Amino acid sequence: MESKIRIVPVNAVDGAFLDRLALCVEERFLARAVVERSLALPRSSLNVTRGQLFLTTLTAKVLNAHPEHDGTLLVLTEFDLYKTSHRFIFGDADQAQSVATVSLHRLRPDFYGEEPDGNLLFQRTLKECVHELGHVFGLKHCFSARCGMYYSNSIFETDNKTSYFCETCDRRVARTRS
Ligand SMILES: [Zn+2]
Ligand SMILES: [Zn+2]
Repeated sequence: MESKIRIVPVNAVDGAFLDRLALCVEERFLARAVVERSLALPRSSLNVTRGQLFLTTLTAKVLNAHPEHDGTLLVLTEFDLYKTSHRFIFGDADQAQSVATVSLHRLRPDFYGEEPDGNLLFQRTLKECVHELGHVFGLKHCFSARCGMYYSNSIFETDNKTSYFCETCDRRVARTRS
């Protein structure tokens, strides 16, 4: 299976942050990860009353910009995301289209009134990216609270899990990707 992961930043995301993320994702999935040109998305794309971006709107725009993408798209946005059944989401995976999406909005310590912390933000982002990419590669939620495929409903659960898969999930993802 072709295993290229294209990281698509929406608007400006720090370049060093993206490069570091690409390296970590390569290491976790044994796939090549490249950072694509950012996709410009104006604030007018947001739902006015919610001040949030509808996931379906974002996915449509990304697929429009990458109609023939090979491999997997990993979309990163600063916008706060929601979908029909969820008030907010940290991220989402569309397995059929091979698109993983992560929002940095609620991963920032400052969102919770804490001091900004670039390293903590990076670790949280990596965990959520590993989680959503795991779904794209066919993994389901895992009951092990330390596994990257654990479903986190709150930032505490994100902090408590690791950016690695447990042995079972690791074996499963290796099987689908060989
Ligand atoms: Zn999940
Ligand atoms: Zn697991």
